Amino acid sequence: MSDLRKRLDNLSLEKRELLLQKLQTHKQISSTSDIDKVPPLIAVSREQTVPLSFAQQCLWFLDQLEGGSVNYNMATGVRLIGFLQVAALEQVIAEIVQRHEVLRTNFKTVNGTAVQVIAPSLTFTLPMLDLQALTAEEKSAEVQRLAREEAHRPFDLANDLLLRVSLMRLGADEHVLLLTMHHIVSDAWSIGIFVQELAILYKAFSCLEPSPLPELPIQYADFACWQHQWLQGKVRETQINYWKQKLTGSSPVLELPTDRPRPPIQTFQGDTQHFQIGLHLTQKLKTFSQESGATLFMTLLTVFAILLSRYSGMEDIAIGSPVANRNRLETESLIGFFVNTLVLRIDLSGKPRFPELLARVQQVALDAYAHQDLPFEQVVEALHPERNLSYNPLFQVMFNFEHNSAQTLDLPGLNVTSLAMENVTTKFDLTLSLTETDLELTGELEYNTDLFNPSTMSRLLEHFQTLLEGIVTNPHQPIFELPLLTTVERHQLLMEWNNTQVEYVFDRCIHQLFEAQVERTPKAVAVMFENQQLTYQQLNCRANQLAHHLQAIGVKSEVLVGICLERSLEMLVGLLAIFKAGGVYVPLDPDYPKERLAYILSDSQVSVLLTHKNIATALPENKARVVYLDTDSEVISQQSEQNPVSVVANKNLAYVIYTSGSTGMPKGVMIEHRGMLNHLYAKIWDLKLTETDAIAQTAPQSFDISVWQLLVGLLVGGRVEIFSNEIVHNPAKLLEQIEKQGISILEVVPSLLQMMLLEIESHNQERPHLSKLRWLILTGEALPPNLCDRWLNHYPTIPILNAYGPTECSDDVTHYPIYQPLGAETLNTPIGRAVANTQLYILNPQLQPVPIGVAGELYVGGAGVGRGYLNKPELTDQAFIPNVFGTEGTRLYKTGDKARYLNDGNIEFLGRIDYQVKIRGFRIELGEIEAVLAQHPDLRET
Ligand code: AMP
Ligand code: MG
Repeated sequence: MSDLRKRLDNLSLEKRELLLQKLQTHKQISSTSDIDKVPPLIAVSREQTVPLSFAQQCLWFLDQLEGGSVNYNMATGVRLIGFLQVAALEQVIAEIVQRHEVLRTNFKTVNGTAVQVIAPSLTFTLPMLDLQALTAEEKSAEVQRLAREEAHRPFDLANDLLLRVSLMRLGADEHVLLLTMHHIVSDAWSIGIFVQELAILYKAFSCLEPSPLPELPIQYADFACWQHQWLQGKVRETQINYWKQKLTGSSPVLELPTDRPRPPIQTFQGDTQHFQIGLHLTQKLKTFSQESGATLFMTLLTVFAILLSRYSGMEDIAIGSPVANRNRLETESLIGFFVNTLVLRIDLSGKPRFPELLARVQQVALDAYAHQDLPFEQVVEALHPERNLSYNPLFQVMFNFEHNSAQTLDLPGLNVTSLAMENVTTKFDLTLSLTETDLELTGELEYNTDLFNPSTMSRLLEHFQTLLEGIVTNPHQPIFELPLLTTVERHQLLMEWNNTQVEYVFDRCIHQLFEAQVERTPKAVAVMFENQQLTYQQLNCRANQLAHHLQAIGVKSEVLVGICLERSLEMLVGLLAIFKAGGVYVPLDPDYPKERLAYILSDSQVSVLLTHKNIATALPENKARVVYLDTDSEVISQQSEQNPVSVVANKNLAYVIYTSGSTGMPKGVMIEHRGMLNHLYAKIWDLKLTETDAIAQTAPQSFDISVWQLLVGLLVGGRVEIFSNEIVHNPAKLLEQIEKQGISILEVVPSLLQMMLLEIESHNQERPHLSKLRWLILTGEALPPNLCDRWLNHYPTIPILNAYGPTECSDDVTHYPIYQPLGAETLNTPIGRAVANTQLYILNPQLQPVPIGVAGELYVGGAGVGRGYLNKPELTDQAFIPNVFGTEGTRLYKTGDKARYLNDGNIEFLGRIDYQVKIRGFRIELGEIEAVLAQHPDLRET
């Protein structure tokens, strides 16, 4: 017994793993059927028809279906330098074919079922191609070409020898041996046996000695017969039940972020990247695993699961993992198709730390090993998962771990190296293979090239290594907080792409900047509406008079002033007057339903309200002191036309705009002067606005985009053209007016662009002239790429600016200029990069930055971040959180938008995390819809 103990202790961890697998299977056998019911695995008569093993049956079916597919060709090649005894080599291969029946087997249909047909013996000749006459370059090209051709030549399972060998002579002392087998007679382990036997036999035969290899006790056919006898009835049922229980409840499809849209039918174009995990880290991983009582395989698999979870944001991850499936001693020295794929479904929920997750993974794997006999295809068949042809069923990524498997061929007098074979196919989205050598871990990442770019895969491998480092350094960190990004990448995401600092002084407020502009261009037209207009001078005088009046009734900084007017010259006068008095404007759209106006008035408690007499009569009751711009005009016009003096600083509030709220009630967003000005300047810089520009004011005053549309022109000496709702809602009129009024800057929401395009496209003769238009700005919701492209096809010289940003951050925080059509492959129009003095962070729920390409939630920091929600401190605290990446005391706004970084630093908008929706650019939350439906049950039906 103690001897056994010692032997156990001396086993390598991987051997122990194998032993454990076997013990588990053993336990499984003894628990499901009595051990004495397991039939002996012995040689059976070849008189009877020999069935295909279950795994072979599946491949055979696939082959029938796909008609000689090359997907299951297993190709290898070696380069042999030195003196090669070709005759001995031929003899060796013939001997291997003679030893292993499976290499002399074909698969034929007899009475409707496939059976194994074994040739008792056959003559093997080694084909040789002489390439000696070629130049060195030609040789290497020819070798690659032939290797590719060999690997891609289909096998006829019924008639061909399913092992194909060919030798190429490159010189007297240089040969390349190509070896291709069909998977139905082989697997990775088998190739190991092949190579091993080849070495032993070559050594013997080249010295004219007989084969030293012992007779094989059984053949693959015996295993197939045994399997049919054993894996049936109760044993089979138990295994099926196990997998059903593990994998139903829909083992989820792994949604890895791809570089290109996933094709509707899975494709198999692939490529491979090679990597090494340095000696030092390998050693640390080994030690760590030993100390955790885990094998290196388990540790690496667990890390891979974390990586996939961090990439997909999913916590239920299924990974395929091959098992040798040679649980009986007799099968270990056989060539043949034994390997099976197990689906390891890993639960990462509950924020585990690494050791806990490792324990979960170990359990999952051990349970799976205990039920490893049922071929994967039968598991699929039993589960019949909902078929989606764009994915591999049950799992989409594979993890492979081998111990020292780099089979080195040790041939006397020959130096043998494996031939680098380009792999151009892949069965899965990703296959990560790691091999433990005596020194370090080496790895390969095979990936689907229709889904992923090489750069994305190199990054993924870097992240895998960063995770490995992080885990051995601090295994007790919660898995979602483990570092993922390299230092360089972290710097790029957090610093470089956020380096938007633009120096300018915010020591003055908007009205002061406007006053300076009045000095420069007093006679220029500042604003137009229908057939009325005001010059800078006139606008300033009228605003000054009203401002003095407002000051007289107590308006000063931080005092909220409601303004309920139709969009008009007067409204702009009103806004400027409120600013000049130092106050804060709160827009109330007279077209709004009475209840909403009542809510805003009571929630904001505005102390002063600017309106018209006829509008006021329709307004709900309120406590504000009302200033009627029409009937009070005489009093107001008595006031001074001089610029008033007020004490207001850029950190004071500029406006409060009510926007949707999840509670069903709108909430007031408080924006300060500095945020508003920062946005105005971002527009001035990015659109290069000057006094020659005419900006269309199209948006209702309750919509944040109205702010810059109304005000930006006044900072550059340009003209604001206020368009009535009637024009804005009529695309034909709008297009006509844009031309008539010489508009250079127009902003619309995508739904309006859609209508404009229909109008434009209805003019089959000549599209409307828009001779002054310089920019078309799209905002408010996702811009469908095809709208964008249609516009640019009609107006190639009028670029689009996709502008994104929430009301809470003073409107837009990103700009994406588009000069060329995006093309049909573009799934989402990017929203671009951060505007001036703005920082953007795409984070996971643990507030860790996610890598490029991976989806996370978008957070905004910097000058535009608003003060919060009026009178709603809890809501404010939820949405405006301390900025963990910025200076102390600054805050980040949590947008609720899902986004990801593209390679070039532009951001792609991926939709909402919550239930907020947009209708014609207007924000609406689920709570509001529910509130409306509660009041209007009649709407429910539609
Ligand atoms: P609002 O506060 O009305 O400006 O709405 C802001 C929200 O509208 C954002 O959080 C996004 O969900 C959406 N949004 C605004 N602009 C865009 C855009 N250009 N692309 C995609 N979504 C946008
Ligand atoms: Mg916005």
